[in-house]
Amino acid sequence: MNEQYVFIDLDGVILDSQQRMLQCKLMAGFTDHSQKQQFDEYFEYTNSHLEEWDYIIRGANSINNSVEIIRQLQQLNRRIAILTKIHTLYEMKIKVEDLRNHRKIHVPVLFVPPGVKKHEIVIPKSQLLIDDSPKNVNNWINHGGRGLIFDQTIENDDSVKVKSLSFLLKE
Ligand SMILES: [Mg+2]
Repeated sequence: MNEQYVFIDLDGVILDSQQRMLQCKLMAGFTDHSQKQQFDEYFEYTNSHLEEWDYIIRGANSINNSVEIIRQLQQLNRRIAILTKIHTLYEMKIKVEDLRNHRKIHVPVLFVPPGVKKHEIVIPKSQLLIDDSPKNVNNWINHGGRGLIFDQTIENDDSVKVKSLSFLLKE
């Protein structure tokens, strides 16, 4: 009966790769995180410094047991999928390899290329997105989806924000 999926963001929800990317960007000399152009320049830079993505993704840690919770959800045959933004093709390759071989996560992974929104890759249609970007969640909701903001710093889950994916195990 329930054909709907729960879509889960990767960077900043499953892995602390968002934070690591910002550190790497800083170290590479692209120090102003308020300038979009510096992000574009850094991602271009990673195309000739592939080890940046190796470090960012392979060395990342599971946030609040997200990796372990997803493994449990896949054991329970829950309809979940990962919906993640990518900036380069090498980043995409590393993410797949890391999820499949290192994290032992085998749920579907959908990639969102630069210049495209998450709700354009998946039609939300009342499905749930869990994402650490309020902008992504708002866009998703505005296009007919249900959304929760992932925020590991909050005290308790509420109707708008969750601090962990563990609530999915109880549903
Ligand atoms: Mg994110």
